[in-house]
Amino acid sequence: MSAAAPVITCPVCSGRPDPGPVGAGPFEPDGCPACAGRGRLRAQLVLTVANIDTGAVRSAVVEPGRLDVRPVPGGGWRVALTARIGELAEAAGVAGTPDELTLRLPADWDPELPADRRYDLEARAVAECWREPWRVAIGRSGAPNHAGRRLGRFGLLAGQAGGRPGAPGPLTLATLVRLAHGLDLALLVTLRDGVPVPAPSRPAGASKSTDLNGGPAPVGLPGLPVGREARTTTTGAPVAVLRWPDGPRWELRLLSPAAPVPVDEFPTAAGPRAAVAALIDVLDLAFAERVPVDPHVAIPAPDHDPVAVPGDPVPELIRLAARHAGRAITVRFTRAGCELYLLGAGRARRSVQAADLPALMVARPS
Ligand SMILES: [Zn+2]
Repeated sequence: MSAAAPVITCPVCSGRPDPGPVGAGPFEPDGCPACAGRGRLRAQLVLTVANIDTGAVRSAVVEPGRLDVRPVPGGGWRVALTARIGELAEAAGVAGTPDELTLRLPADWDPELPADRRYDLEARAVAECWREPWRVAIGRSGAPNHAGRRLGRFGLLAGQAGGRPGAPGPLTLATLVRLAHGLDLALLVTLRDGVPVPAPSRPAGASKSTDLNGGPAPVGLPGLPVGREARTTTTGAPVAVLRWPDGPRWELRLLSPAAPVPVDEFPTAAGPRAAVAALIDVLDLAFAERVPVDPHVAIPAPDHDPVAVPGDPVPELIRLAARHAGRAITVRFTRAGCELYLLGAGRARRSVQAADLPALMVARPS
């Protein structure tokens, strides 16, 4: 069962959200933009630092009643979280400078107040301080390669292929598998190696399973890739597969381990590097989606020791896609292992699961 989080009554609707008009738009699903109709706000923050070079992850939970409140010069009270992030970074072996992060308490907070009154004020400060209650700072093991490099700017951490000696290596698919493992997320890699098309005519007497390499190439299909291989299948009408000359199409997603596998059969990135770059662009969105919708449910606070560096999964993924040429597949990496899903007919069907990708390659379909 999921851990419980402290909550406060929504200050906008006083815990009585208007159900809203029928057909209300997506930005006002239930009439109260603050609580989305739930009447409560979660009074909890989670700070996480992840080391993408080792997979080490450390997290801290910020909740009312457990805050290190300090006076602000000139008046007022605050909780300085920058030092806390620095501690997490040190524990995760991350070099770099955390962004300044401060939680300000209401002006009427005072250490002389009764404990329950202080708790209420702290709960409101925590619940209302940021839009992103799970803050993930991502860093690397090595010393910063230029002055002022900050934690958490993922794109800056990526490094450049062929950069100067000592510069961090580029982020790769293996890096993201390790990051997903450390953060207890699921990394989903969807590949599609080709598009099925009507089979060209075969010589009379040819077997259904005969490879059509060398036969007449399918033509007259605008918008489809150039074929480099054509096959028949043994199910239903014979089809050929037009495969991209530069390899399969890719898409990466970072999701909650509980999220269903999306049935998206048409990834678009032309290679793993493009897919990694596209995922990095939406990483903040992936972290936001990991926060439970129900405010009573605690935000997961991942913690993980360094993990062994996995081998480069790209060659094996390309081989898997080729085995299933003509249809989309998704390989799902989690702490629990690795699964292969076959996509089609509006659903994602799990075909194989194993401890890791090399084991998946030789596992029998379940
Ligand atoms: Zn509300």
